[in-house]
Formats: sequence, structure tokens, C-alpha cells
Amino acid sequence: MSLSTCRLWSKRLSLYSTPNPLLIRGLTSKKNPYSHTLQLPKTSFPLRADAAKREHLFRDRTTKDLYPWQLSNNPKDLFVLHDGPPYANGSVHCGHAMNKILKDVVNRCQVLNGRRVHYRPGWDCHGLPIEMKVLEALREKGKHERMSPTVIRRLARQRALQEIDKQRKSFMSWGVMGEWDHPYRTLDKDYEIRQLGVFHDMVKKGYIYRQLKPVYWSPSSMSALAESELEYKEDHKSRSIHVRFPLTKLAPAIQEKWEALAGGPANKIHAVIWTTTPWTMPANKAISVHPDMEYSLARCGAHIYVVAKDRVTALASDWGQPLQVLDTVLGSDLLGSQYEHPLWKNAAYPVIGGTHVTSESGTGLVHTAPGHGMEDYEVCKSLGISPFSPVDDKGIYTNEVSALGLEGLEAFGQGTQSVLELLRMNSAIVAEQDYLHNATAQWFANVEQLQKQAVEALTDIQMVPSVSFRRLEQFTLSRKEWCISRQRAWGVPIPALYNIDTNEPLLTEDNVKHIIDTFDSHGSTDIWWEAEDDQLFVAPQYRDNGKTYRRGYDTMDVWFDSGTSWTMLKDLPDRSPGQPLADMYLEGSDQHRGWFQSSLLTSIALTGQTPYKTLVTHGFALDEDGRKMSKSLGNTLEPAVITEGGKDKKKNPAYGSDVLRMWVANCEYTRDVSIGPNIIAQTSEIMRKIRTTSRFMLGNLFDFDHTKKVDYKYLSEIDRCMLHELYAYNNNMKQAYGDYAFSRAMQQLQNFTNVQLSAFYFDVIKDRLYNDAPGSASRRMAQSVLYEILQSYTTSLAPVACHTAEEIYEHYRDLTPDPQSSIFKVGWHRSLPSQWHQPQLEAKWQMLKQIKTEVNQVLEQARQEKLIRSSQEANIHIAVAPSRLSEVLSSISETELASYFLTSNVYITQKAHSPTYQYQREITLDSDRCSISATVSKDQKCPRCWNYHADNENSLCSRCSTVCS
Ligand SMILES: [Zn+2]
Repeated sequence: MSLSTCRLWSKRLSLYSTPNPLLIRGLTSKKNPYSHTLQLPKTSFPLRADAAKREHLFRDRTTKDLYPWQLSNNPKDLFVLHDGPPYANGSVHCGHAMNKILKDVVNRCQVLNGRRVHYRPGWDCHGLPIEMKVLEALREKGKHERMSPTVIRRLARQRALQEIDKQRKSFMSWGVMGEWDHPYRTLDKDYEIRQLGVFHDMVKKGYIYRQLKPVYWSPSSMSALAESELEYKEDHKSRSIHVRFPLTKLAPAIQEKWEALAGGPANKIHAVIWTTTPWTMPANKAISVHPDMEYSLARCGAHIYVVAKDRVTALASDWGQPLQVLDTVLGSDLLGSQYEHPLWKNAAYPVIGGTHVTSESGTGLVHTAPGHGMEDYEVCKSLGISPFSPVDDKGIYTNEVSALGLEGLEAFGQGTQSVLELLRMNSAIVAEQDYLHNATAQWFANVEQLQKQAVEALTDIQMVPSVSFRRLEQFTLSRKEWCISRQRAWGVPIPALYNIDTNEPLLTEDNVKHIIDTFDSHGSTDIWWEAEDDQLFVAPQYRDNGKTYRRGYDTMDVWFDSGTSWTMLKDLPDRSPGQPLADMYLEGSDQHRGWFQSSLLTSIALTGQTPYKTLVTHGFALDEDGRKMSKSLGNTLEPAVITEGGKDKKKNPAYGSDVLRMWVANCEYTRDVSIGPNIIAQTSEIMRKIRTTSRFMLGNLFDFDHTKKVDYKYLSEIDRCMLHELYAYNNNMKQAYGDYAFSRAMQQLQNFTNVQLSAFYFDVIKDRLYNDAPGSASRRMAQSVLYEILQSYTTSLAPVACHTAEEIYEHYRDLTPDPQSSIFKVGWHRSLPSQWHQPQLEAKWQMLKQIKTEVNQVLEQARQEKLIRSSQEANIHIAVAPSRLSEVLSSISETELASYFLTSNVYITQKAHSPTYQYQREITLDSDRCSISATVSKDQKCPRCWNYHADNENSLCSRCSTVCS
């Protein structure tokens, strides 16, 4: 939510809501001798949410009980929102909250609209990060011996399950409704078997192939790998290099530091990068730094280098030379600097910002070659830096680098050697190291065959926002290959066998089928690692062919795991064959190259269709200064601190989950959004206002009986005008939710609350509600309208602030003819009567509202000059010549106008005012002119209703004396 929204909110509050003596007096003062005759609001609905303590009272009815209920009771067809599985590792952050809550808002809208919603949350469980955590933990325990894959897998599974449990608790605490007792997990047997089924089908269709691919890793991380993974690698050594680039132009911030260090042209400062692919050096176009990371200016021998502060120690040890830190700067200080490329000396290249930069390895400055890497390409594209790719399809340098003498050389072979020599000749190399370079055979899915078909299929998809289409299209088309094999233990095995003598792989349709059947009958893929005899996995028809086979221990890329999750939807009941498997996928923008794409490719491969009909993409959660959240920056904000409060409750109060949900809905989620203590405090202010508004309605309906509702045709004009506004509001809200434009919905909700309810209608009806006779028609009219507003208002709030909506509903459900245990069971199918829609009435009241604004100005001036204390003491005189405006004003009785303006009397005249009138104000409305002025009323203050309608001091006005008699 933007700050301006909140300012607008509070501005409106002060502009429009006149202090209301009735409410304040009625509730706080015992001095009114007639107070027992007033119909003051009564409700047990608390003003303070106390959400952290009380939301759980409404949790079950709106989640656990509601989910199965709507599946079996809602009348309309199934809506499937297929959950993209979060990774089962690490604590939950605001990005998770945004993702899960957006999904829940979508689902709740569907439930209210009468559809049955299928939402089964999932988790992505395999992969490197969990495996690394397990290995780390083992190392910490001092277990240095090589762990068998079986042990690693057992511990990884345990860890994933524990993490799922923790994450699930958080997700559920936000009031997210779904099949939490029965989530899907990529480590479950049925999931793995299904996934292998997809693999099997792709083998059958010829999409899976094997090919050599260079894989790099450092000797140090290799020691962390299980031995089994290293079998096929023909290891040979390659070079990793640290390269220095002289900075030829310094950004102002660093220039200053540099001058302070007495630097100068003769003593250049260098940016140092690290790369394991020297062959890409000719294609270098930029150096990326992380804007929020700290960088040291460090002396090393005669040179001064810029390297990440966190890497100084490691680099000194790698280079065998001491690094003396002279000063520290932020990455953002370096932006705008330029350097000289040691191979291309006549051009200046930029230092650019990139949030993908880390200080985990290398120097913290990243060699950026947009022609050779997708990530580099993306970073550079946004800055208008064009890619340079002087290597052809066969890996041979092209004539674009003939000036360097590289043309025709094999980039991985002689080309690399030549580049190294060129760099050495130019004294650009700070250090060189041996590096293990494994050209390994890997398994691939053939995506080239699928790309075009996939992109064509995307044209039928509804994309929110629509720009997602280009992104997904671009990522899908630019994908050159999909390597689906990994040399890790924690994953789904690639069911391939290898000829022991020739290493020739056996990956046939029938043998894959045999292996899947074996997993199925053994209850788990663990048997792949546990079985002693390879023969178990050889299908009978291959057993006596004179060859012997052994298993391979590659596992599948986790994107293949999650990318096949759509297959689970094939068995959903009540989906007709023409329908896509899922109505919606909704994830963060990183999934354009992740899950959106892997799901698309596997689904196109097998079915020729996309698995989704609508694709919604959200941005990332940033801090209040628009920075990415990270532990090292200390700017993270855990969702639990928002909902349950921090250690210091003064600094971080417990806001409850509806405030978190309101934040999500209020954000323009299609872009990156900000969150922080101030934004959350402002959001809680919105919720507070909603509670106050609801409480007013509940309090004034305490004696309402829906069977005594006043028929539309008998309502006063202002009541009908309010119903017209309600009608429009109800439609606009449905429309905004239907467009997944939740921030628009929340703007409308706030606007309706402040402008239509608080500033317009509530002010006017208070007198009727409190002071008219309990069963009087005028009071029942106001109540009838409030009753309608309350229902639509609460329903329109429900998808977002579900707990609050349930709480409000609990306080009025017994007033309704058919009370339910949850507001979601009431639904939002009911359309409001179309006769409420009265555009002419609206146009007329628009004019009156403008007049009232002007009247208020006059009253305010009179108040400031102490002529009156409250508006009720004043008479308003409006002089208006015959015109549209005079028609409007005379179409309403002066008494009604007085109650609308909250004044004693109103007099409409054609004649201009005599000069004795005070505070005269000339105004023009649509070219119609009138003059407004105020005088003190000669009437006396009624001691009961405090209106200036009484004939004598201390006597009741005629209305009150009737009510009291
Ligand atoms: Zn009175």
C-alpha cells in the first residue's frame, strides 16, 4: 500500500467527519435527563480487534470447517487453484505471506460466488539446499566420514518433513483455507511414481536424450558430495582466474574516498572478478555489484582492489598475499563507475547493480557476459546493454574476435588457453587456480521441439498482469536446453541403467516401466539406493541379452519434480474433458523461468495443452525503502512479528493476521511491494476504521427485525440515494475481485467507508436512529438501509479480512432470516435489486453534497468566530435564482435539508440576502449560482436531542415531546 493512500484516508477523516455531539454525549455523558429515552447503539462487538488473542475464535469456521463444507455444498462447478509448491526449507517470509494470502483471497471470492474450490497446498521437498543442510549438520556433529546416500536421504526426508510442519503452521495461521491435512509433497511415493510416469511418457515420445555437458565445481564443494555421484566423470583440470579491471572513471562517492586515500591516475584502482569460464572473457560487457553489499578498498602489493568486504579473508588466502583494507563503500557507491577491458582497450564498460550478486564465492563482483548467460542477459537487457556472443553453435570462436586472434579456436580448448595468455600478457590476472572441470554426460529433455507449441498455447491464457505473457514467452523461447539430471542423493532417481562394459545407457520405455513397477511394489524409490543387486531393475527381456547392467545414481532436477505436479489434477472429479486441469496458477515473477515454465513444457510434451487457464504473477516483498529483504541487511520482517507481535510489544504490536491479509490485498501486487512497521501500522488503521464503521451499524441494529424492514418505495430520498451508492459499491467490488484487482477493491472499500458511510450517511441518520421513537417509520427506514449496507459491506470485506468478517457476521446473523455458521455459507450470489440503481437521484445528490461542503465552510467560519458552537445552532439561508440548482433545492423540504446539513433550519429564497446576513458565500455549481449564509437560530436547544428546534429554553422540541409522551 502506498503512503499516499493512508494520508488520503486521514485527510478525508478530518475533512468530512464533523464532531458528532450526539454520539459522544449519548455514550459518555449521564447528564442528559432523557438518556433513558434515547435509542443509543448497543453491541457487544468490541471496538478493539485484539486480533492476536481473538482471531482463533473465528479461525475454524472460516478454514477447517468451511473447506469441506463448500466442496460438498456450494452449487456451482469446481474452481481449481493449483498451488505452486514452496521449497520445504527455511523460515517463512513476507513473500510467502503474499503468495498464500493472494491465493486465499482468490479462493474465498470463488466460494462466495458459489463455486466449489479445490486448493491442495504442496511442498517441493528434494534438492540441493536441503541436502547441503543435512551434510552441514553432519559435519558439525563431527561426522566426517562419507555418508551413504541412504543415510543422506533419510535425514533429508526428516528435515523436509519438519520444515513442512513449521511452514504449514505459519500458512494456516494466516487464515488460509485449503486441504492442509492432505497436502501434496514431492517426496511422497505416489507423487514420485506419478512423476516417473511423466518421465516414462517423455521417454516413450522421444523427448529424453543424453549428451555431454561441461559441469564445473570446486574441489572443496566436491568433498561434500556422496561418492556415488562421481562415477562417470572424466575429470580434468581447468583454470579459474581472478581478473582485475582498471577503473577509468569513478562514481562521485568513491571518487571522494579515493582522493582521501591520495589516489591518482598513476595509482589506479581495480575491480576484481573471478570466473571459472575464461573463454567468456572476450564477451564481458559489464561488472555487476550488489547495491546493498559492502565492498572494501584493499591494498594488495602495489595495487588497490575493490572486492566484497566479506571475501577479503578468503581472497588473501587464495592469492597467498595479504590484503590491507583501507576503506569500505556500498555497492551503490560504485554504480556509474567505468572500467577498461584488458582485451578491448578502446571502450569504457559500466559497473552495474544486480541483486543476484552474492558474497558466497568469488570476489562479490560478477563478470557479466550477456551473450553467455541468461541471468547476465536479463540484467543487461534492462540497462540496454546488448549481448555479445562470439562463439558459434559448435563452440568455436567467430570472426567477431579475430582482432584477438581467437577466430576458429575451440572455446573450451585452445581458445581458453589463448584467452588466458592474452590476459597474462596484459597483466590482468591477479591469481589462477586449478579447477575441476567435468565434462559429464547428462540427461536432457528436448525443449526445442516444445517451445513453439508451448508459446502458441500461451496465447489462449489469461495473464494477470498482461505483460507476463512477453516474459514467459521470452524465457520459454530463450531456453536452449533443459538438463534434468543432477548428481545428488536427495531426489527422484533417473531410472536409467548402464552397460557395465561400455557405459552405454539403457533407457527404454519398457525398462523404465519395469523400474517404476519395482519402486511401486517396494513402496519407495529408496530401493534404488538400498537394493544390493542391480538385476532387480533390469526388465526380464534384457536379462539374458549377454550384457550386464548397473544403476546410475543421477537424480532429477527439482524443476522436473514440481513441473509435473499438474498430473495430480487429472483425477479430480467433475472436470469436463475440455477444461484445463487448473483454473489458475498464481506465483511470484521468478516462476516465469521456473515452475510456470517447467509445468508448461511437461504438460505440452504430454498433452499438447497448458495446465492452466489463468496465470497470475505477483512481485516481491521489499522493505520500506524499496530494498530487497535480507538477513545481512537486517531489514527482514517476519510475518509472525506482524501477526503475533515482536519481543518488544510497544515497538512491534501484535496486529493479527487480518492486518497482514489487508496489507497483501491493499498492495499493487503485480509489482514489487513494500512492507515495514510503518506500512503495517497504517494498514491496521484501515482495519480499525472498518471495525468502527461495522460497530456503528451493528450497534444501531440492536432492535432491528428484518420482518419489519421498510419497503423500498416508502424510503426517504436520502435513504434511496444511499441504496443507490450501495448498489454501485456492491457491483464495483464484485467486478474488482473478479478482475483480481484486489488493491482496487480495497480502495473502493476505503472510499465507501469514508465518503459514503462515515461522511455522508451515518452523520445524517444518527438523529433519526437515536432520537426518533423506537418503532417509528423514520428510524426503521434508516435501520433497513443499515441492514442492507451491513450485509454487503461485510461480504465484500470477507475475502480479505475473513476473521473480522466472520466476527461481524456473528453479531448480526441472528437478525437475518437464515443464519449460518459462517458468512461464506451465505455467499455473494444475491444481486441487489436493480431498482436501487437510480442515476438521476445520484446526480441530484451529487449537487446537494457539493452544497453541503460549501455549507460546512460557512459553518466552520461561524464556529471559528464563536458565533456558534455547533452546526445545530445555525440557520442556513440559501438565495438562488430559478435554475437547475433551485429545482434541486426545492425538491426537498427545508426540514429535510436542515437534517442533512445538521443545522437548526434552512431557508431557500429567490431574493438576494440582505447585508445583515453573516458569512455570505457566493458559489457557482455547473454555472448555476447561489449564495449561502448562516445566522444564529432563534430556536432553543432541546435538552433531549440537542437540536435547536425547541420553542422555549428547557422545553422539548415537538418531535421529542411526542416521543416522550
Ligand atoms: Zn428534541
